[in-house]
Amino acid sequence: MPHTANDPKKQSWISVKQDSDFPIQNIPFGVFLTRDDVITIGTRIGDKAIDLGALHQLGYFENIPLTDDIFLQDSLNDFISDGKKTWRLVRNRISELFEKNNQELQNNKEHCKIVLFDLDEIEMQLPVQIGDYTDFYSSKEHATNVGTMFRDPNNALLPNWLHIPVGYHGRSSSIIPSGIPVHRPMGQTLPLGSSEPVYGPSQRVDFELEMAFITTDANLLGEPIPVDEAEDYIFGMVLFNDWSARDIQKWEYVPLGPFLAKNFASSMSPWIVTIDALEPFRVKGPEQNPEPLAYLKSSGKKSFDINLEVDLIPENGEALTITKSNFKYMYWNMAQQLAHHTVNGCKVNSGDMMASGTISGPTPDSYGSMLELTWAGKNPIKLKDGSERKFIEDGDTITMRGYCKNKDYRIGFGEVSSKLLPPFDPKKGKKS
Ligand code: MN
Repeated sequence: MPHTANDPKKQSWISVKQDSDFPIQNIPFGVFLTRDDVITIGTRIGDKAIDLGALHQLGYFENIPLTDDIFLQDSLNDFISDGKKTWRLVRNRISELFEKNNQELQNNKEHCKIVLFDLDEIEMQLPVQIGDYTDFYSSKEHATNVGTMFRDPNNALLPNWLHIPVGYHGRSSSIIPSGIPVHRPMGQTLPLGSSEPVYGPSQRVDFELEMAFITTDANLLGEPIPVDEAEDYIFGMVLFNDWSARDIQKWEYVPLGPFLAKNFASSMSPWIVTIDALEPFRVKGPEQNPEPLAYLKSSGKKSFDINLEVDLIPENGEALTITKSNFKYMYWNMAQQLAHHTVNGCKVNSGDMMASGTISGPTPDSYGSMLELTWAGKNPIKLKDGSERKFIEDGDTITMRGYCKNKDYRIGFGEVSSKLLPPFDPKKGKKS
């Protein structure tokens, strides 16, 4: 089936600013609450959100086999379960309907009023009900930096790293959409030079610049997904800030890996950009040496050229872009991650989320965490107001953006942005 939605010549009758992340070639999927307090699945062109539930009820998808309530849901899980063919049919149809010369909807003012929303009239929700969440550790630069700081600069990578896309099972209950503030976590740490741990607020709260992919139902329990087929089961991608407490992490992670340092919050961007929309931005990943085992061997352009940047915005202060990285630096690609994840027969479901791990580039200005940017606090970052940051302080907002760009157009992810609050205060109650 052709990607008619990716035609670079296409323009929409909805106006789209030059530098918008959401031209008619994007057509991401999300879930939002409308001005009438109705929850619906939608898409976005320019600065207009489009209610797909209403569009479907009005008959605009009549030639596509969809159940009546497929878009009248509070998550994309069922739609994602319908599979790649349906995603493409729907995306192509939306593209056709909003194309400049198509009169079907644009001249029907009454219908336009029902399906189109300004962004300030809606509230974005978590787009999927995430059953299981896995976080990989697939950036060689990041793993090398962390290994250099915490273990041995001469043997920064552990012996398995170049053979396995290393990962751990995270917790989906603490994944939240962009905009929701995060409390500084309390926990147990071992102060420097002490032999006894203490309980208190983490002193080293960090972000992790990551992306994550959302899967469809991929296999039966016991059935591995071959690396060559793995991409068929990936619906799309989001930006992902995997908030981390470095001091808690350092004390707790031996021998079973990350635990409470990671599951207090992870923030995701609300619009899922489909792999179909990212097709024009495919690139080859880094060369893999030693050659991976046969079940992990992948060829062709399996990575994507996605520019990533992070701003730190102090409370009432000016934003500073503190790093610029790119998804293409990832050593292990998503197909390899999914093939590895299922090689033992592990079942993957619709709405599962797999995050990349921190995406660090080769140069110090492209590192994907404060831990690396400040080299564990040794080289603080100077903000525009003259203040310094070793890690994130209360009141700071972390905003991540991601976009692809070629000579024809730009496809972006919008942003994931959230503020760090002081530790939760039980006296003030839940909304402190
Ligand atoms: Mn992570």
